[in-house]
Amino acid sequence: MSADALAVAGLQPFSSVDFPGRLAAVVFLQGCPWRCGYCHNADLQPRGQGGGPRWPALRDWLARRLGRLDGVVFSGGEPTLDPALPAVLDQLREMGYALGLHTAGLAPRRLAALLPRLDWVGLDVKAAPADAGLHDRITGRRGSLHAVRESLALLQRSGVEFECRTTVHPRWFTDADLLRLVSELAAVPRHALQLARLPDEAGTLRAPVGWPSPALLAQARAIRPDLLLRLG
Ligand code: SF4
Repeated sequence: MSADALAVAGLQPFSSVDFPGRLAAVVFLQGCPWRCGYCHNADLQPRGQGGGPRWPALRDWLARRLGRLDGVVFSGGEPTLDPALPAVLDQLREMGYALGLHTAGLAPRRLAALLPRLDWVGLDVKAAPADAGLHDRITGRRGSLHAVRESLALLQRSGVEFECRTTVHPRWFTDADLLRLVSELAAVPRHALQLARLPDEAGTLRAPVGWPSPALLAQARAIRPDLLLRLG
C-alpha cells in the first residue's frame, strides 16, 4: 500500500511524554474497532480517511522538523490497522527519525510486520492478561483479549523496547482487579497505570478522587515497586 494513503486523523506537533526519551511528533490515525467506555478519541473510531493533513504534506513538514524533533510516534485510533503504515515508517526511518507506536495489541499479525521497523511500543493492556471478562467489558467486544496476549508475547520475544500501560478507573476496576492486573504484568519491563478521566455532570473530565487509595497503591507497589501512576 502506498504511504500516501495513510489515514491521518490529527497531529500533535510536539510531545516530550508520548515517546520516552524523545522529542516527538504524535500522528493520530483514523479507525478502531473497539469501543472502550473511557475512550477520549471516539471520533477516531470510525474507519475512513481521517480529517488530518494528507501524508505527503505531513511528511514534508516532518522532514523540515528533523533536528528539532527526533521521534515520531503513531497513535490512534488503532494505528496497526492502517495498511499504509509500514511504508510510512520506512520513509521516516530513511529520514533518520526514531519510531514509536501506541497500540491496543488487537492485530498481532500486523504488529509483527511493524516491529522490525520500530524503536519503541506502548502496549495498551486493558485488563489483567488472564481476565477475559473484564477485558471484554472495557472494550465492548467479545473475545478481545486473545489478540492482546499474542501481541504481548510478540513484544516480549522481539527485543523492541516497550511499556505496558493500563487505563484504570473504579467504574471498571475493583481493588482486587487492580492488584490482579499489576501481579499478572509483573514480569514486563515497565508498567504504567493511567487514571481515566471521565466527564462529570458539567462535562468536565475528572480523574477519580481518592482512588487508588494510598493503601491500595502500597499493596500494588509491594508487588511491583517501579509501578508508574499517571493521569490518563
Ligand atoms: S482501543 Fe483505544 S482508540 Fe480504540 S476504543 Fe479503546 S481507547 Fe479508543
